[in-house]
Amino acid sequence: MVSCELIARHCICCGGNQLQRSPAVLMPFVAHRVFGHEPVEITEEWGLRDLRPGMAYTLCNSLQCQHCGVLFLDYRFTDEQMAALYHGYRDEAYTRQRDHYEPGYAVIASHYHQREAYIGDVESWLAPHLPERPVVLDWGGGSGSNTPFLQQSNALYVHDISSVELMPGVERISASQLAAGCYDLVVCSQVLEHVPFPLALIKQILPALDEQTLVYLEVPYEALVRGHPGSLGLAALKRHWHEHINFFTPQALHCLLESAELVLVDSHLLTVELGWRQSQVIGVLARRA
Ligand SMILES: [Zn+2]
Repeated sequence: MVSCELIARHCICCGGNQLQRSPAVLMPFVAHRVFGHEPVEITEEWGLRDLRPGMAYTLCNSLQCQHCGVLFLDYRFTDEQMAALYHGYRDEAYTRQRDHYEPGYAVIASHYHQREAYIGDVESWLAPHLPERPVVLDWGGGSGSNTPFLQQSNALYVHDISSVELMPGVERISASQLAAGCYDLVVCSQVLEHVPFPLALIKQILPALDEQTLVYLEVPYEALVRGHPGSLGLAALKRHWHEHINFFTPQALHCLLESAELVLVDSHLLTVELGWRQSQVIGVLARRA
């Protein structure tokens, strides 16, 4: 049983309660947007007898499930906090505010507006499982610019909370318009690492699936996790949290599928070039049990 706790006491993937815990800092940009916190210097003038002067940042905990290995931030944000964090995602005001806390961000952000080259590799991997011109729904797909089979699909739909302009040929769909049996493939890519309740999100997708529909979930294979394969001692190595609040292991993704009553069809690890850096992703393909 995976519950929705605002400060997690249980694993977000498997529901386990064996969590290793270690203190960490919530990075100032996120703390500012979510909690309205700004870093502050505690000085002698505060007159606090029992506190040492120095910089104060928003504290949090790193948690790692000792069953499935997922490493995550203990804070689980509310819908309102998520809306505040992602308001105007990567637009001018967002970029300016983030660049204030993280000098150089604006330069990095300029890489995000093109289609990622690795999507072609994902398409090649998915293609043998699908009809020639698949009907695709991309959950959280933004404008659709990184949706697999863009321009090669008979119909391409995006469900996304943002109101960004869509790519030509992409149609927006609301949760209430989802209908089982309409899609060959439902994609949820580079989303689950951002959300407080990944299982709840997958359950929202389920009504769109029938027995034939395949679901493709993709998350970053974070350097810290892939550098320590199988390690259950990562909490103490994770000293800061940013917008990726969940670091998945392959096993954690499998647990998540199981919790959602989906069965694994295939999985892959893929090395990807993300504009300015090399990274890796974990992708799993699943269907209804
Ligand atoms: Zn777990």
